[in-house]
Amino acid sequence: MLVHEQLLRGQTALVTGANSGIGEASARALAAAGAAVGVNYVVNPKQAQKVVGDIVASRGRAVALQADVGNEDQVQAMFQTLFKEFGTIDILVNNAGLQRDSAFTEMTLQQWNTVLTVNLTGQFLCAREAAREFRRRGVRPEISQAAGKIVCMSSVHQEIPWARHANYAASKGGVKMLMETIAQELGPERIRVNAIAPGAIKTPINHDAWATPEAEADLLRLIPYRRVGVVEDISRAVVWLASDLSDYVHGTTLFVDGGMTLFPGFASGG
Ligand code: NAD
Repeated sequence: MLVHEQLLRGQTALVTGANSGIGEASARALAAAGAAVGVNYVVNPKQAQKVVGDIVASRGRAVALQADVGNEDQVQAMFQTLFKEFGTIDILVNNAGLQRDSAFTEMTLQQWNTVLTVNLTGQFLCAREAAREFRRRGVRPEISQAAGKIVCMSSVHQEIPWARHANYAASKGGVKMLMETIAQELGPERIRVNAIAPGAIKTPINHDAWATPEAEADLLRLIPYRRVGVVEDISRAVVWLASDLSDYVHGTTLFVDGGMTLFPGFASGG
């Protein structure tokens, strides 16, 4: 077992968008490391219940929490339910995200707003609620050296411009500055804030990019390490950033991308 089951013992985590892909894997990994987990979802309650059921069946603690992360009232209600269930929060994984792709000149305001509301405003709303609780409760040295940990799911597209995805790239660039700014602001209170920038990870969000051998071969040209990532590549990084093993890591983006940000186009020229 790669994750030590005592690592996050006594801690509570909330993972947004935890009934699919990277969020689901993160919820499972945090539970395996000993955390009680809030499994947020907005659609597909059955899959959220399955994640909760599997965690409970392995003697973990979890609860499914429905909320649209872009809706302030729903986010605040979700945190209240989490506190009723588990008392407090130690770890927030700001993971929920989506794409609404379009050529720039065809992009509708709705496509723009949907992506910014979920990917950026959603992270703001959840981080704010978590930070308020971290501040109220403070550090419990027997639990963690930090008053709380926030892990923001960004993307290599916080750095790499992406044609036909202006809304998505802008949202992730925003996540980078949101993360760094609140890390600067909240660090003195021992609130630790970091981001993970995944490269190409096999999940429903990018199914078409790896679903056929031709598509996968095309994608591999962009990955120096020559494999497409899997959700466990990211969930292991989430557990590390949520634990005291990374206690001096603050305000950093951890790229987990098989080298996608190494300008692979220059490998054979330039
Ligand atoms: P996914 O589609 O499997 O999961 C996204 C989750 O977010 C789903 O559970 C979805 O229901 C949820 N969600 C969407 N809108 C929501 C809302 N309003 N409120 C609450 N939940 C909502 O995709 P994934 O690949 O697991 O994506 C997870 C995160 O990782 C996203 O932020 C995405 O941008 C990021 N990411 C993914 C990749 C990749 O290659 N898969 C790469 C870089 C970044």
